[in-house]
Formats: sequence, C-alpha cells, structure tokens
Amino acid sequence: MQEFDLVVVGAGIVGASVAWHAAQRGVRVAVVDGIGPAAGASGASDGAVSVASKREGILADVAYESLEYSKELAKKNGPLAGIFHARPSFFVATDEAEEGALDALAIKLRKLGNQVKVVADLPNQKAVALGFGSGVRRLLKLDGEGHMLGYGATQAYLRASGAAFFWRDAVIDIAEEVSSVTVQCQSGKLRARAVVCAAGLQSLNLFESLPIFPRAGQLIITDQRQPNERTLEGSITAGSYLISKQLVKNETSSPPVVIDPLETGQYLIGSTREPHGRSDFTDVSVIRNLIKQAVDIYPVLKNRRVIRTFTGVRAAVADGLPIVGLMPQHRRTWIASGFEGDGICLSAWAGRAVCDAIFDEPKGVLDVFSPNRFQEMSEVV
Ligand SMILES: Cc1cc2nc3c(=O)[nH]c(=O)nc-3n(C[C@H](O)[C@H](O)[C@H](O)COP(=O)(O)OP(=O)(O)OC[C@H]3O[C@@H](n4cnc5c(N)ncnc54)[C@H](O)[C@@H]3O)c2cc1C
Repeated sequence: MQEFDLVVVGAGIVGASVAWHAAQRGVRVAVVDGIGPAAGASGASDGAVSVASKREGILADVAYESLEYSKELAKKNGPLAGIFHARPSFFVATDEAEEGALDALAIKLRKLGNQVKVVADLPNQKAVALGFGSGVRRLLKLDGEGHMLGYGATQAYLRASGAAFFWRDAVIDIAEEVSSVTVQCQSGKLRARAVVCAAGLQSLNLFESLPIFPRAGQLIITDQRQPNERTLEGSITAGSYLISKQLVKNETSSPPVVIDPLETGQYLIGSTREPHGRSDFTDVSVIRNLIKQAVDIYPVLKNRRVIRTFTGVRAAVADGLPIVGLMPQHRRTWIASGFEGDGICLSAWAGRAVCDAIFDEPKGVLDVFSPNRFQEMSEVV
C-alpha cells in the first residue's frame, strides 16, 4: 500500500487545482482518475472565467475572488501562465427582457468592485458598425474577465504539481480509519491522511446521497477564420444566457448562445443546458438553432463551417451552488464537486479553499457550500 498525505479522486480541473495547491505546501499528493486528465466535463466545456454570468450573491462573490486569483496564477512561472487569458467580453440584448438583464448586470458589477467593469454601453447602430447583427438592440462591453480551456488548465496544474498519478484506475471505495483513510482503487489501495473527492458527476458513485444531477450542454466548433476576416476580441454572450443562469432549475427550450473566439482562430459556440446526461449525443435541430442565433448576433460567422459538435455533461446541484467541504460524519474525507457550468471559473478558488480547510483553519465561506446544508434542509422539511 502506497502512502500519501493527500489523495485526490478525479483529475478534472477542480481535482488538479486541489493537487497543485496541496503540493505547494510540500505534502505528498496522489491523483487518481478512472480514465485520465480532463476526461469529464473539464475536457468538454467552454472556458469562460466570468463573473458577469454568475448569479448575484455568494456565487458571484467567489467567482470574483477566483478571477482575481486566476490572474495571479497566470503571472510568470505561475501554473496558469500562458493558459489563462484576460480579454474583454460582450453582452448583447435583442429584446426588452434581455435589456433588463444587461441593466441588472451593470448594477451587479458596480456592487462587486472595479475589477470587472462596463467600458462601453452601445445602442443598435454602434453595435452594427462593430459587426454585430441588426437585431442587437444594445451591446455592453466589459473589461477584466478571462478565458482558459478546461483541459489546458487541468494539464498545467497537474504538470506543475509533481503529484503521483494513477490513470485508468477508478476509485471504488473510501474507508476512514482513526488516523488515516484508505482509498480502494481497482488496482490496489492507497493510504492517506485525507482524501478529496473531485469526481464531478461520478461523485455519485462514491456518495450516492449527494443531490447532484446531470445537465448536458451541446457545443459547436467551427473551422478557422480567414486572416483578413473581422475578429472578435472577446466572447459574446446573449442576454438570454444571463437570464437562464439566474434560474437555477430552468431548462430553456431555445438554447441561449455564447460565442467564444479561440486562440486557434476557431469559434466555440454553445451551449445548451439540458436535463439529459448523454455525452455521446448531439441533436441536429438544437445545433441548427445555436448556429442561427450565433449568426444573427454576429453575422460574420456565416462564413465559417462547423467542423465538430459535442456534448459535455455538467454536475448540477439542486440549489445551484457547488458542494465543497468535509463530508458529514467524516473527518478525513472532503468533497469538491457539483460545479455545474462554473467549474473552470471557480477552480482556482476551490483548490485554494479546500487546501486551506484541510491543512489550516477552515474559512467561514466554506460553510455555505458544505454538504451539511442538505442534511439541514431535509431536517427542516
Ligand atoms: C458544455 C459545457 C460548457 C461549460 N462552460 C463553462 C464555462 O464557460 N466556464 C466555466 O467556468 N465552466 C464551464 N463549464 C463547467 C465546467 O466544465 C465544470 O464545472 C468543470 O469542468 C468541473 O470540473 P470537475 O473537476 O469538478 O469535474 P470533471 O471535469 O467532470 O472531472 C471529474 C474527473 O473524475 C474522474 N472520475 C470520476 N469518477 C471517478 C472515480 N470513481 N475514480 C477516479 N476518477 C473518477 C473522471 O474520469 C473525471 O476525469 C462547462 C461545462 C459544460 C459541460
């Protein structure tokens, strides 16, 4: 049996961030994945590190903290150097309800501080002059947000961590003893002082009572734009996306679109928020709808061809908040899961918060995210 200070179950972006933060403390870390790095949602997602799209309250607060911290980690020699890119973001309204969402967004950002701010608020004519569609009634440009691809960040954290890796080796059981915890993998056992379950949706296989459920998202990748073609400096998010993110349980019939220009010159267009959890499935009518919305908002996209469509599956939680903290009735088993559509953005914060809680004093903010909140909820009911 090999011994470690910390075993991390799951090599998605959250597990990778936990592993890197633990390794910074000089402890021995192992990362175990049933498949390999970024095999789950982290490898099938967009990568907006966005405060603007988060629900007002604690989620927007920790996203703000995570954004600021990601920028620090992206400085020279940091694990996210060359991975996290700061860039502007655009939010568009095509009807009155979406204009209302843009107003609410501007107010929310002012309350949060000045790290992310509205730098332009443009009417239809000015938006059209910038290449936006004639249906765009209003355009907000924000400065201060960023982007990183989930699989790139996962690999960067893992590479910099120096942890021991166990790939294609699923964890099937976690058993706590008095002074250690035994992690039973398919190929053998690991012993540690603590374990963090960062297995995304499959955390359910280890803790079946967690209120986590699948929320799939279909995405499109285009071919590369031509060198002389008009370029977007940052992502475009439809006002309807802001509206859908405010509603925890909402499954929209018309998918709200986000258009992301990638470093490769391709565009990533997505993504739906659907109750089914099939990652091998994309639906032609949904893809057509996404393309139509994207071209309406940014007509230059009509020159692009779709080269691939795919689906990623988010781990959603009933109350829309991730589950981060010590598992109830456990002393050495921690959970960091249920990040739904926000895990790329929150990963830097989550890795630091979990390691602070394990190795130092837990900070109060984790109480809000603790798995204990569901016990309390059921006691109240
Ligand atoms: C379509 C889509 C778009 C998204 N866009 C954004 C975005 O723009 N911005 C943003 O912030 N977030 C976005 N997200 C959300 C983000 O991708 C996720 O929140 C994040 O990747 C979750 O990371 P994770 O590490 O918790 O889980 P995962 O990435 O799912 O990783 C879990 C890992 O655990 C492993 N595993 C599972 N069970 C076991 C086991 N028993 N033993 C060992 N290993 C196991 C899996 O193989 C997997 O590698 C999007 C997600 C989707 C699907």
